[in-house]
Amino acid sequence: MPELRDFPAGTVWLVGAGPGDPELLTRKAERLIGAADVVFHDALVGPGVLELAPPSARLVYVGKRSGRHSKDQASIDRLLVEAALAGSRVVRLKGGDPAIFGRAAEELEACRAAGVPVRICPGITAASAAAADLGLSLTLRGTARRLTFVTAHARAGEPLDLDWRSLADPRTTLAIYMGKAAATEVASKLMAAGLSASTPVAMVENASLPGARRFHTRLDLLPLAARTALSDGPAIILVGETVRGHAEGEAAGTVVAAQADDAAANLFSRRRPSTASRSSRAHRAA
Ligand code: SAH
Repeated sequence: MPELRDFPAGTVWLVGAGPGDPELLTRKAERLIGAADVVFHDALVGPGVLELAPPSARLVYVGKRSGRHSKDQASIDRLLVEAALAGSRVVRLKGGDPAIFGRAAEELEACRAAGVPVRICPGITAASAAAADLGLSLTLRGTARRLTFVTAHARAGEPLDLDWRSLADPRTTLAIYMGKAAATEVASKLMAAGLSASTPVAMVENASLPGARRFHTRLDLLPLAARTALSDGPAIILVGETVRGHAEGEAAGTVVAAQADDAAANLFSRRRPSTASRSSRAHRAA
């Protein structure tokens, strides 16, 4: 089988499963999953993706959702290595891109230390899927020359150890992964470091999935917005001028205003020229 030349028995692929929509999987990922003897997968891998594994493949859930770790990282590393040493073709399927907040380094190292060949198949990361759902660009010529992927997940009981001065740059777009629980700290530290309270913020929950929800708010209202608008799904928070809502995005976000108290009603009080021109067109038409 020539297509298996890059996937001999006893090897491991760390495969990016993308943000959830199976159509956002790469063709390579699809082929590797289809050739696997065993697939170790996360909580964030959608069912449509797992269906691509052959019926004979063993599917092993090794997810770690915040707070209720079903497997620690060392156990996952060991399982991968054991399966490969037993002669399996091993796919380690990870949400998004394996090399972005995916603990890929530990798994690569464990495989290499055991002499198990391991490779990475990249995937579409959550920030890209969120930007697509919002219909906006993460970078903007002249305005946002820098895009920063940052995780707001701290080890249990520890404060976030981030360089807030460098993050609080108005010409940067921040893509904050695992930021829901730390939204209050993130907003206050960014503002304390000098980022304007009115900096646009967008949140996307379940990006790329049928239940995707999009919200626009501003930095000072992020804590309230995160608390009232987001539910259980994975959510990414984008901060910066590039994520200023256009008319269509704001319509989706008004859910927040409808749910929350007076302060939340201000979440969407800011209006973009596009909205204004739309209403003035409506006015002219009337
Ligand atoms: N490797 C993944 C990130 C894993 S960290 C990637 O490249 O996307 C897990 C975090 O990713 C979640 O807490 C959330 O912040 C984000 N995330 C993953 N899938 C998402 C989705 N479909 N929608 C929104 N955020 C998502």
